[in-house]
Amino acid sequence: MRNLLDLAPVEADRLLREFAVSHGEAAYRGSQVVPHLWQKPVASFAAMTDLPKAFRERLAEHFVLPRLTLETGQRSTDGTRKFLFRLADGQAIETVAIPDDDRMTFCISSQAGCPLQCAFCATGAMGFARNLAVHEIAGQVRELALLDPPVRATNIVFMGMGEPLMNWSAVDVVLSVLNDPKGFGIGARHITVSTVGILPGIEALGRRKEQFRLALSIHAPSDALRQTLMPVNTKYPLAAVIRAAAAFERRVTFEYVMLGGVNDHPEHADQLATLARECGAFVNLIPLHPGGAMGFTPTSPEMIARFARRIRGHGVEVAIRKSRGKDIAAACGQLRVERLRRRPPAGPDDDREVQVA
Ligand code: SF4
Repeated sequence: MRNLLDLAPVEADRLLREFAVSHGEAAYRGSQVVPHLWQKPVASFAAMTDLPKAFRERLAEHFVLPRLTLETGQRSTDGTRKFLFRLADGQAIETVAIPDDDRMTFCISSQAGCPLQCAFCATGAMGFARNLAVHEIAGQVRELALLDPPVRATNIVFMGMGEPLMNWSAVDVVLSVLNDPKGFGIGARHITVSTVGILPGIEALGRRKEQFRLALSIHAPSDALRQTLMPVNTKYPLAAVIRAAAAFERRVTFEYVMLGGVNDHPEHADQLATLARECGAFVNLIPLHPGGAMGFTPTSPEMIARFARRIRGHGVEVAIRKSRGKDIAAACGQLRVERLRRRPPAGPDDDREVQVA
């Protein structure tokens, strides 16, 4: 049984047209299936009612459309929603949907857990389970579009659990699913891949012709400090990451989480501005989520504002990210950590609290 949700739309279209013809249908019948995969998703072949019943039955005999089980959902007072999905092998991943004016940004996961162990990150502290498959990454967007009422993404950031560029073979296909008009049709400029600086992945992303955005998790402006916060810095030191960012032909954003007394001194602002100038980066300062990191305290809003002004004084564009979903622990990995504390991961059929319609 072939999984249609692991394929780029163009691949699925080709395969389904061939399938239709080999089963005595016109090729266009195969193409008619494609919008139901992502654009106007349905839960099963039986629900593709614009197709002849016999053809739907043939499809169900040869292909699968695997679902993710929505285990919990939480809504913050600011409208941010956080979802925990259980995968077929019992792993749990999370997705956050953040409304902002007319935008709906989904923060999606690319791995179950994360191998990189950044000191301030709840996901890193959980360890690494495995890479997600295409249908498990893109499926997060699909499942929310299947809710009643549907929640549809206008923007995507790969800032959930995991390091997307360590799962490039899947993320490469997911980018096509997200961007292709036969997939979700989300503009490439509205899709951001966030990385700690996995160099081969940055190069691979740079080779894609679409204008996907790159965000770099910098978090410390010197090797010495970054080493203590992000062990990956040993393999991919700051200078090499900045060189890769400078070679990346599109706009790059620096992500910089403000850790009280650790990386928020005035000289850090100066160093960060110098790095940003080297590669023409925009700087995003991220207030630490209260309770989000063991052993760290947030920088005060006044100090963040001062830090931002100092960076701007060097001619570098900077923004302070709004902290969203504070009351539901919407920082990376926290919902999953809360659930795990209560109960270890179980089989896919166990204890569902919220069921996708
Ligand atoms: S911050 Fe990102 S890369 Fe670092 S441990 Fe957490 S999920 Fe992994």
